Amino acid sequence: MNTLDPVVPTTQELVAAGLQLPIMEAFYTIQGEGRFTGHPAYFIRLGGCDVGCVWCDVKESWEAAKWPVLSIEKIVEEALAYPGRLVVITGGEPLLYNLDPLTKLLKEKGFTTNIETSGAHPFSGDFDWVCFSPKKFKKPHPSIFVEADELKVIIYNKSDFGFAEEHAKLVKSTCELRLQPEWSRAAKFTPEIIDYVKNRPKWNISLQTHKFMDIP
Ligand code: SF4
Repeated sequence: MNTLDPVVPTTQELVAAGLQLPIMEAFYTIQGEGRFTGHPAYFIRLGGCDVGCVWCDVKESWEAAKWPVLSIEKIVEEALAYPGRLVVITGGEPLLYNLDPLTKLLKEKGFTTNIETSGAHPFSGDFDWVCFSPKKFKKPHPSIFVEADELKVIIYNKSDFGFAEEHAKLVKSTCELRLQPEWSRAAKFTPEIIDYVKNRPKWNISLQTHKFMDIP
């Protein structure tokens, strides 16, 4: 190689810099959960997750190498094809990646940026709304606590109420607190969640309304 040849970064280096990202899927739909329930939103689902929730409904996302790697320009260009300007970055676990470049570009193009994360990796990105959904299977990174605008705890068994309270103590006072029944356990736990929230009104309930509407 001529020493004057430009050094071309590898895909691995571009992913590490957050300039390219593995995309499992991206689609325009209605946000079904949490604070933005009912809002049209463009979902960007990044491939890769090392959290390992037993009840995960997107296990196919876990292996990042299975998914095509796209430049952030291409990702944003595809988002711009739809009329909505709310984008939700999810996964997998999106904080496996440096999200600074992608969110900067999205905001330059006029998007409101939301993230849904387990918080298991250091925080990055410029987000208007951070939905933090901690999981028992991998401890959150401490950088998430000050960033979270919404704490959403999935109730899969009884001990998850205590897990929710432990995390409520760690987030900022303005953080909205939500309990959400895990879909397969909803019939069992929804009545208990209703009672819990009625007695502890700092909490409210999040439901996976997109599943009732049968949309992705
Ligand atoms: S953090 Fe999300 S994607 Fe990862 S295993 Fe848990 S539910 Fe699945």
